Parts: sequence; C-alpha cells; structure tokens
Amino acid sequence: MSEEKKQVEKIREAFEQEFGRFVDLRNKLSDLGLAAAENLQREISEFKTRHTGKKSEIANAKKLIGRVAPEERGSFGQFVQSVEKRIVTAIDESESALNDYILKAKTERERVDVTLPGRRPRVGHLHLITLLRQQIEDIFVSMGYSIEDDREIETDYYNFDALNIPDGHPARESQDTFYTTTGFALRSQTSTVQIRAMERRGAPIRIIAPGRVFRRDTPDPTHVPMFHQIEGLCVDKGITMAHLKGTVAEWLRRLFGEGTKVRMRPSYFPFTEPSAEFDFSCFKCSGTGQSDGARCRPCKGSGWIELGGCGMVHPNVLENCGVDPQVYSGFAFGFGLERMCALMYALDDIRLMFENDVRFLGQFR
Ligand SMILES: [Zn+2]
Repeated sequence: MSEEKKQVEKIREAFEQEFGRFVDLRNKLSDLGLAAAENLQREISEFKTRHTGKKSEIANAKKLIGRVAPEERGSFGQFVQSVEKRIVTAIDESESALNDYILKAKTERERVDVTLPGRRPRVGHLHLITLLRQQIEDIFVSMGYSIEDDREIETDYYNFDALNIPDGHPARESQDTFYTTTGFALRSQTSTVQIRAMERRGAPIRIIAPGRVFRRDTPDPTHVPMFHQIEGLCVDKGITMAHLKGTVAEWLRRLFGEGTKVRMRPSYFPFTEPSAEFDFSCFKCSGTGQSDGARCRPCKGSGWIELGGCGMVHPNVLENCGVDPQVYSGFAFGFGLERMCALMYALDDIRLMFENDVRFLGQFR
C-alpha cells in the first residue's frame, strides 16, 4: 500500500473512532431530553465543520492525488472520494436524524391538547380582617362618624406626648415600640390619628380611625408585632360617659344582635380620665356562659368578652390639640380587630390571619 493511501486510511480510522458517539443516533434519541438534543446539535455542527470543511484532513488529502504515480492515480482518487463520501454521508444522516427529533419534540411541547379541562381562574375575595373592618365602618358611618386615616410612622410627640403619655412611661421603651434609626416611632396605637384630626378640624368632631399598629411582641398564638385597631373619638359640648356607653353598646348591638349588653370596668390610661375597659355579653352563649351543654369557649364560661379600652378624653389631650376643655368634652375608645376575629371565628392562633394560606382565608367570604 502506498504511503499516501496509508495516510488516507488513517484519516478514515480516526474519523470512525471519533464518530462512534454519533453512530445510531436515531435510535438513541428517544432517551434524550430536548435540551440534551439541542446541545448535541451544536456539537455535531462543530464536528461537521472539522471533518468536511475546507481545512479538514480529507480536503488536504485530495491534494495528494496529484502526487501519486500516474498509473495509481485513478484508484487512489476513487479511494479518497469513497472515504470523503463516507464521512459526509455519516455526518449528514446523524444530523438530519437529530434535527427531525428536535423539531418533533418542540411541536409536541407546544401542542395544545383541546381535550384537557380548562384552568379556572380562582376568584379572590377580601381578607377577613378587611371584611370585619368594613362592617364596623358601615355601622359608624350610619351613626354620623367619618373615617380617618393617617401615617404609620410618627414622631414621639404624636405617638406619646400629645396623648399625655409621660416621659418614662413603659410604652415609650424601645422594647415595646419600634423606632426607626432616625428616631421616628412606628405608631403603637391609632390615637395618633385622633390627635392629627383634632388639630386639623377642631371640635366638634366624630371620627373612627381604623389602621395598622406596631408593637414589639414576639409572635405567638395571641400576639403579633403588627395588628389592626379601630379607635373612635367623639368631642362636643356636653359629652358624658353616658354617651360613651350608649355608643359602644349601640355598635355592638348592630354587630352582634339586639340582646347584646355592655359593661364597663374601671381602668387607667394616660390619655383618658376616667378610664374604663369595656366588655360585651358573649355572642355565642348570650351571656349564660354555657353553650352546647358545656363551658362556652369564646367567653371561657364567664358570659362576658373583654374587648377594649375607653374613657373620657383627658383635658390635657384636648388642650394639646387646641380644643378648650372648659367648653368641650369627649370620649374615646379602641379595640383590636384580630382578637375580635379570633373570637368570632373560633381561631386558636391569630397568626393564621397573616400566613396568607388560601385554604384558610378561602373559608371567610
Ligand atoms: Zn360565651
């Protein structure tokens, strides 16, 4: 065998060895994913350029044809051509098998199966806290109150001073209140809204202020560091504690039914004088303490549910807002919405309301 023929034979052997991985590609493809097939497509294209391009070894081998002895030239030429044909055909076959497979896989992926059931969009609804807040807002609006809203980040003045909360009061401690690095407080009650509303509008005034408040509590089944409050304020000439009790009793009757009773227990808050806590008769057992033959759960058998705090607005607070306490008097009350929701829906853990699990939230529409 001539040197030239040996050289071409080597090219053929080298090709066959390297081509091994692409042999029988058509049968191997079904196990490949689309991404792997696309990678292989790039590899085979590079492989093709290397073995059939202008600078490929077989292209160089063609130049040898002119160098062999004239009587061998014919058969050598045929041999080179047959090797080149083998290389080109082998690569083309594998490449077209791969292209067919990719095209088919893409078509399959993008095909619409008209027999599948449609995806029904889920209908959303308001959060249970929002629903209760709106219900309470409606009651107060019908009683002539307007709804006030204001900022959640406050100065110490609005969060404490204006509310007659003295320096050194535990509520001011940073373990109870969140402070920003620049010294602002996240409001710890919505009373800040009452102060701003009175400053702006003066007396007489009748408002409720629903909103988020923030306290440094570690989350547990009955505490969260952010919760919702509704506070009410009524300032006018001749307002007494009787108006306070009548108002609280009336909105609770409208929410829980005609038979609902209210009681007040003396308490202390810096911003009201006198101050009281208010309870209402249990909506589950109507104040009997027994339901379904057992101790009633929401009221723990007492027949009463503690709801919030209230009192007559402290004269200092009125003065701080530019309202003359010699002429005007008023009452204020406040309570938390989460606690109320937890009682009404018998929730063991108020954190459920903030975990945004639609399986839970979907039960309250
Ligand atoms: Zn009860």
